[in-house]
Amino acid sequence: MDKSDIADVLNEIATLLEIKGENPFKIRAYQNGARKLETLEEDLGDLVSDGKLKEVAGFGDALVQKITELYETGSLTFFEKLKDSVEPGLVSMLEIPGLGAKKIKNMHKELGVASIEELKIACESGAVAELKGFGKKTAEKILLGIENREAYGRRHLWWDAFEVAKPILDGLQSLPEVDSASHAGSLRRKRETVGDLDFIVGSKTPKPIMDWFVAQEGVKEVTARGETKSSVRFESGLQADLRVVPPEQFYFALHHFTGSKDHNVAMRQRALSRGMSLSEWGLKPVDEDDFSNSKVISSEEDLFKYLDLEYVLPELREGAGEIEAAESGKLPQLLDGKSIRGVFHNHTTASDGRCSLEEMTKAAQERGWEYWGTADHSKASFQANGLDDERVLEQISLIDSLNKSRKFSTYVFSGVECDILTDGSLDLDESTLMSLDYVVSSVHISMTQTEEDMTKRLIRAIEHPATTMLGHLTGRILLRREGYKVDVSKVVDAAIANGVIIEINANPRRLDMDWRFWRRAADKGLMTSINPDAHRIEHFDFVEAGVNVARKGWLNESHVFNTLSVDEVRKAFAKRRPALGRLKAV
Ligand SMILES: [Zn+2]
Ligand SMILES: [Zn+2]
Repeated sequence: MDKSDIADVLNEIATLLEIKGENPFKIRAYQNGARKLETLEEDLGDLVSDGKLKEVAGFGDALVQKITELYETGSLTFFEKLKDSVEPGLVSMLEIPGLGAKKIKNMHKELGVASIEELKIACESGAVAELKGFGKKTAEKILLGIENREAYGRRHLWWDAFEVAKPILDGLQSLPEVDSASHAGSLRRKRETVGDLDFIVGSKTPKPIMDWFVAQEGVKEVTARGETKSSVRFESGLQADLRVVPPEQFYFALHHFTGSKDHNVAMRQRALSRGMSLSEWGLKPVDEDDFSNSKVISSEEDLFKYLDLEYVLPELREGAGEIEAAESGKLPQLLDGKSIRGVFHNHTTASDGRCSLEEMTKAAQERGWEYWGTADHSKASFQANGLDDERVLEQISLIDSLNKSRKFSTYVFSGVECDILTDGSLDLDESTLMSLDYVVSSVHISMTQTEEDMTKRLIRAIEHPATTMLGHLTGRILLRREGYKVDVSKVVDAAIANGVIIEINANPRRLDMDWRFWRRAADKGLMTSINPDAHRIEHFDFVEAGVNVARKGWLNESHVFNTLSVDEVRKAFAKRRPALGRLKAV
């Protein structure tokens, strides 16, 4: 365990003690200990082995013992016992947004609430609202949190799910008994969230494949074990299903279990209109009894060909007009991730990023990008150490000299993520904003406005001459928080009219603007930029999730601003900032 792992445990201890209603001084000692540990400059291993934890960091004896035990063994008996002594229902209440240990303890003490189910009843009956220090608003918020938890509980971010799926897929593909293997379902369609993981394998000998599947590392529970179908559950709660089918059925099964339901219905109807019946087992004339005389296919492409269709990529199979487009040869030439030549909207240590300007530039260069752009927060985001006008101007000159030094081959554009204030005005002076190469305007505060007010607010920001891009359109956090209400089509029209880009925020938790809006918006002329919103170099990887959104939204290269070369970007920025000399210089 490293420092921050141990600090997490200390914080959890503090929370559990608080739920139990223990002495506040004791609780604070653990919280302070965690904070001290996180900011400790010395090497923890040295301090433990030299017995200097007490002397250097000023920890008390009890804390020294616990930190040492955690460091040396990776666990703590005291912590395990403590966890067992708190009712699990109370601990699970911590997952509800806005509910801390103190509130949970009070509700437990005053109302006897000991589970989320009981909490829900207490909220609905008005008992929570009447509790001292709670009130009607708090009770409503808790209720909403419970409802969201139920609705989101069984889903996972595509990003997280794919990380679990990748080694399973690699493992299946390397088994000698496996003829073909693929993932399927919403994971293969690259939906923003995924329920269960689905795998399809073609093989004549399913048994050893099933044996391997249920015995994988990380499997917590085998929920079903059959001859051709098994299900397992992983530590994270994610469930994976494996189906093994005879090799000749593989592509039919793969197509069927990839879905979506709407897509499959349309495909079956198309088959029927040709006197054929299509299913996971095959494609046969309607009047034959079984699939023993099914058509033979050696790829999904073959299946589409039999039905006189162009091949439809899995990410387009949403029943959203892809069959009609495939029939008339009008499927889009989807954006290829390789054509991304740089990224905008990234944070550095100047605001709440973890990596410095130089570290980010180096990482962008290692990815072969021609350019990247900073977009640190502005001052209204004070909790993120947002920049005021003076600091923005300082950062511009810092970036200028970095570019001039030619230390890196990757060019740095200077931008900002400027807060859109409640009335739609921007958080920095117009002259400051026009001194930047570009501005991403985003909402982070007052997110509970009515749809009408929020729409007006966004449009006012779009009409500001300095705005280049609109950041995370709805502010949604997948599986946690709905976006604010906004009239998307009005905002899209305003962006087009003002030549403003709407970003695809590629953070896997955001993926905002949603893929469902893109096809129509791009048809009308809207441009996007796939922005990782990176707060550290690893987040540059998020671009892949953004590319998924663009592809699901039927976008091609010409719709995506950051497929342009560095000179083309410079020219595009210079159009809006003709007075900026550095944009013209090459
Ligand atoms: Zn933001
Ligand atoms: Zn950001």
